[in-house]
Amino acid sequence: MESVASPIVTCSSNNNGSGSNNSTTTTPSRYENQKRRDWNTFCQYLRNQRPPLSMAVCGGAHVLEFLQYLDQFGKTKVHNPTCPFFGLPNPPAPCPCPLRQAWGSLDALIGRLRAAYEENGGRAETNPFGARAVRFYLHDVRDFQAKARGVSYEKKRKRPKQQNIANAAATSVTTSPNATATAT
Ligand SMILES: [Zn+2]
Repeated sequence: MESVASPIVTCSSNNNGSGSNNSTTTTPSRYENQKRRDWNTFCQYLRNQRPPLSMAVCGGAHVLEFLQYLDQFGKTKVHNPTCPFFGLPNPPAPCPCPLRQAWGSLDALIGRLRAAYEENGGRAETNPFGARAVRFYLHDVRDFQAKARGVSYEKKRKRPKQQNIANAAATSVTTSPNATATAT
């Protein structure tokens, strides 16, 4: 469920031309590949709008539209409140409720796009994937899907390792909100 079903397209304009003199990054990870595909998909989505949108004018509202657009490719049954199976994890029969993108997929997708945006030259302050509206939307999706599907999404808490952070605390400010994979 980690990949959002979407057409794979190429977005040739965003090759990151910054020559890295580090030879350890020759093999892109699955995460990196997925991130590139997601980014290309989003570029393609913007180009397909009428009129086409550029990344420069892209804001949180466009990201929300993109997420809703992706729902048509979803594979996760999300019951309507009127459905008799609302809140049942294992419904005993089929129902006409829509299939959606699972919250976890959307959440991971936004994380990748948010990183890709900045890797492609975007500034963190204007990152549409980090917009409040997007965060609220994802929060709502999580709440609703948890209720509708009768499951609970426990927050994966990243427990900081007990390191000696006394030195760093004096000067450095942590500015990365989702430091998931610190490569070392
Ligand atoms: Zn249903």
